[in-house]
Parts: sequence; C-alpha cells; structure tokens
Amino acid sequence: MSFRTAFSQTQVFRSRLGKMASQLSRADTGGLSLSDLPKSNVFTSKLPPDPSFETPEASHRAQRERLYPRMVKGALFTFVRPETNEDPELLGVSSKAIQDIGLKAGEENTTQFKAVVSGNEFFWEEGRGGIYPWAQCYGGWQFGAWAGQLGDGRAISLFESINPMTNVRYEVQIKGAGRTPYSRFADGKAVLRSSIREYIVSEALSALGIPTTRALSLTLLPKARVLRERVEPGAIVCRFAESWLRIGTFDLPHSRGDRDLIRKLATYAAEDVFNGWESLPAAVSLGKDLPADTVEEPARGLPWDKIQKHQGVEENRFARLYREIARRNAKTVAAWQAYGFMNGVLNTDNTSIYGLSLDYGPFAFMDNFDPQYTPNHDDHMLRYSYKNQPSVIWWNLVRLGECLGELIGAGSQVDEETFVKQGVTEDAAPSLIKRAESIIERTGDEYRTVFLNEYKRLMSKRLGLQTQKESDFQDLFSELLDILEALELDFNHFFRRLSNVSLADLASETGRKGVAPIFFHAEGFGGIGYTEDSAKERIAKWLDKWRQRVLEDWGPENDAGAKRQKAMKEVNPKFLPRSWILDEIIDRVERRGDRDILRRAMNMALNPFDEEWGLNQEEEERFCGDVPRFQRAMMCSCSS
Ligand code: AMP
Ligand code: MG
Repeated sequence: MSFRTAFSQTQVFRSRLGKMASQLSRADTGGLSLSDLPKSNVFTSKLPPDPSFETPEASHRAQRERLYPRMVKGALFTFVRPETNEDPELLGVSSKAIQDIGLKAGEENTTQFKAVVSGNEFFWEEGRGGIYPWAQCYGGWQFGAWAGQLGDGRAISLFESINPMTNVRYEVQIKGAGRTPYSRFADGKAVLRSSIREYIVSEALSALGIPTTRALSLTLLPKARVLRERVEPGAIVCRFAESWLRIGTFDLPHSRGDRDLIRKLATYAAEDVFNGWESLPAAVSLGKDLPADTVEEPARGLPWDKIQKHQGVEENRFARLYREIARRNAKTVAAWQAYGFMNGVLNTDNTSIYGLSLDYGPFAFMDNFDPQYTPNHDDHMLRYSYKNQPSVIWWNLVRLGECLGELIGAGSQVDEETFVKQGVTEDAAPSLIKRAESIIERTGDEYRTVFLNEYKRLMSKRLGLQTQKESDFQDLFSELLDILEALELDFNHFFRRLSNVSLADLASETGRKGVAPIFFHAEGFGGIGYTEDSAKERIAKWLDKWRQRVLEDWGPENDAGAKRQKAMKEVNPKFLPRSWILDEIIDRVERRGDRDILRRAMNMALNPFDEEWGLNQEEEERFCGDVPRFQRAMMCSCSS
C-alpha cells in the first residue's frame, strides 16, 4: 500500500466514523462491536515506514525471520505481524476500558475479540487491504546513558480506534506479541507475571485520575513457555493510549542527525496527537512576575504560525509544543508524588509525549513513606526513587529540548526555505542556540511551577482542604511526610484513615492522642527514638494544625463533617494494587489456577474509593488493611 492509498483509507474510516456517530446518537447503543468500531491508521499513513518494507504487502510476504532485529533508519515504524498463538485464554477485561474505547459490554465474549487481543487476527487481508499492524521505532537514554535504537520489541500496534461518543482516538497495541526488528537480543514475549501487573495498575491509575496508558484485556498463552530467571507462562496485554510516542521517539532521529524526521515527527505530534497547533499553550509569565502561588493557565488558540515575543525571546509553535509536553509531564509526575506511585524505570523511552504514565515494569505504590524508596531492584543509584521522579522527568525533558533545539531556537526563521532544507548557518548558530537555551530554561521554570501547583492542589484535596494557604506546604504537607517517614507509617492508609476522622474527636489534646494510633500498623510504629507517647504526641500536634485548617475551610463540623469526609474519600483510595497484593494475585493465577481473583481485583482497581465491593469481604478487607510486615517496600527486577 502506498502512502497515498493508506491515507485515503484513513479518510474512508473517518467518513465511516461520521456515519457511525450519527447512528449512535440516534440509537444510543452504548457501544459498538469490535468490527464496527471506527478504525484508522493515521500514524502509519503520515510517518515514514521502514524502507526495507515500505508497504504492508512487502512486510506480509517477507519471511518472519527477515523482520527480526536490525537497525532501522529514516523511519518511525515497521509493518509487522504478530505471532499466532495456540489456545489463548482470555483471563480478563477491564469493563471501564471496554466502555472508554467505545466497545459494547459483552463484546469480550465474541470470537473476534478474543482472536484480536491475542494476536491471532488483525484487520487486514491481502488483496483487500485494511489496517496492517506496526511496531514503532525509537531510542532512549537508559539510566542516564545513551542506549541507541530500542523500539517496540514486543509490542505491536494493531490499529487506531475512534470512540464515536467521545471522538477520542486511541492506538491499540498488544504487548507480548512476538519478535520485531526492535526486539534486540530478546524474545518479543511477555510473561504472565508482568502482564498481570500492567493490566491491573494501568486501570488502577486511570481510576485514580492519573494520566496513563490503558489495559483492555489480559490473555494467557498456555503454549508459550517463556524463559526468564525460570520458565514462565506467556501472556498478552491488549493496551491502548492516545499516543505511544515517547521522548525516546525524538531521541533516535536526533542521535542520527535526522532533522527532517524530527520536524515531521514534531508536526505529527502537534497536529495528530494534540488537537492541532492551535491547541498549544501561549506564552505565560512565571516566577518573579507572579506571586509564588499563582497558577496562570495559558491562553490557547494562537494561529499555528504565530511568533510570540516573550520577555525578549521569540517563541514559535515548536516551543509551544515543547512546553505542552513539559506541562503535561509536570502534572502527571505531581500526581505520582501525591499518590506515592513510582514507575521504577523512568528512561526517556518510558516517558510519554502525551504525559501518560507508561510502561509498567518494576513499579510500585509507596507502603511506608520513604522518599529514598525505589521499587527497582537494579537501581542501585536510586536514580528513579520516589524523591527523584520530578527531577528525572525534567532531565528527560531536557533531552527532548535538545532534540527540538534547532526548531525552537530558530524562532521566526523556522519556516524559511533555507533553514528548512539546510538548517542553521554558521553565523546564525550562536543566536539560535542562545534562544533555544533560554526557552528550555524557562520551560524548566514552567515545569516546576506547574508541578508544584498540581502537587499542592492534589495534596490539599487529599487533606480535605478547599483552599490553599502558603503555610500549608510547610505546616501540613512537609510535616506530615516527616512524621510518616520518622514513624514508618503507611503513606496511602494515612489519608484514607484521616478521611474518617471527625473534628469533634480532635478538640482536646487527649482526644487527638487517642486518635493518633489509628495511623499505626497492627504491630505499632517504627523508627528510632520514639516512645508510644512521643509518637502519639507528634501526630496529635499535626492533627491540631490540620483541624484548624479544616475549620477555616469548612466551618464547625456538623453536616459539613459528613460532606468533608465524603469529599476526602472521593480522592483517597481505600484500595491500591500494592506489590504484595499483585504477588498474591500472580501466585493464585499462575500456580493455583485461580481466575476469579483477577475479576475481583480489577473491580477493586476500577473503584478504588469504594468502602466495600461485595464480592469477597474477607479478602477485600485484607487487601485494604495493613501491608504484611515483611512484604513492605518490595522490589522487583526488570526482567519481564
Ligand atoms: P522496557 O524496559 O520494558 O521499557 O523495555 C526497553 C526496551 O527493551 C524496549 O525497546 C522493549 O521493547 C525492549 N524489550 C524488553 N523486553 C523485551 C522482550 N522480552 N522482547 C523484546 N524486546 C524487549
Ligand atoms: Mg519501555
């Protein structure tokens, strides 16, 4: 298929989408079948394919071995086909993901759904066309070092779907689908263990309101025996995202000096991932120009070719794109910090352009609060520990700034023919570099501001506050974290338990000291140098400050107490898929043939703020209770 036919195919799907949308608004069926779901292939029709297999036919006719690992240049993807799998068993679906992508409930029971999510079927036929699957090409900085070409080594994108109800387009991908040109020395497979983890955590983060890639389904491949530290069962997660572009997608063409490809990719990101150049943020004032706590929401809607002169520096549309990516990541990492989530491997190839939490390897939710904690067993330098996440994401964004440096540094010359064709002249280079540097630096300030504002917003909500005060950061947030760290208390349990506290119980010092132990573990508290009394006293002191702030915000508690408690429970989850719970689920599915546990756990992950789930009360309470003492702050290796 040539570029042109591929593109017109996209148009066909678009017009089908129009028809579908009007049908839907009439019938309101609440979802479509998989075959009726509107599909497109904007990615493969607009971006350059692997020159060795320019068309689906060329790839399809090639022997599978020819699609095995090698260097791919000047391209952003290769057409590839998933390996077929015998007797796949669909272990579970996320009902929320089914709904969000636009499928109808029960669609997962169809033969077609099961075949597609296990890699056994895709929407293309020789001679008839359709949409051919692809693997993306990218590179990355891993643990601070340049790693060269990486790419989708075991993930294969099947098609883009468009939910006609929301108009949101997703790229649907299966992970663990077999080798691609980007598999390097690995096997293209995913083990059940890590697939269960990704399946559940994707949906848990989404339910918490944290931007993330999604998981539609989990399929067991009983015939695939995958060798890791031991032989393990294989599995496929069918996942989807608004975009799978990563900072690493820009890193690779940058490392090869491929300026045309960077420009094409940036243009694709702005026009086809975000809602067009016009949706990107106009220049904002930051830092010295504004009081510390002010959030300035940037205006949007500038014409695509508008050059804004801001504080003496010209900002073109590529600078706006860079800032949008930084702003999105700032908000996402703020949410990770506020909910104690760690990705574990924040390499640039795992950092999303769209600001999504992405690629779940050795991730974890915080148990006892410990800023030094990393769930990654191999991260000896603690590079990706909890406290480093905000700065490491900024480090990654600086790499992106370098990739986009020429485009953002060119200012108003960015569309001049000689610049587009040949790049910057030697004479103009110093001023271009200076402009790029000052934009990157200012974006750093913006990243920091957006991060802090979002972090404060979320922490205030978690503490049941309706307003924000300058002093909250020190008096409430920092002091709370210090207490949790010093007494080795559970981070997320604290917020949920606090949600249930009544101010009336905190009116006196005795009352506050009486409440304090609800935050202890069953065996008490940890830390050095505290007695039971001094531990209670420190918590009581904090509770007093918190009580005063809640009073300021809500007034004396009567009805307001119930309202405040409800508001807090809506942001403080009772259930989170902690590492020990995931381990138990994995063990039960893998070794004891339990299947229903997946359904129950997914139900909890999708409704994390509920008080009870009504499926298995004993288990629910256990999963929401104390983390067993010797299973706290677990670590896992990267082998997945
Ligand atoms: P990750 O650590 O999962 O983000 O993976 C880093 C890179 O290694 C990506 O390019 C993956 O596609 C690739 N990779 C990881 N595991 C495998 C595997 N089992 N087979 C092929 N490629 C893999
Ligand atoms: Mg990755």
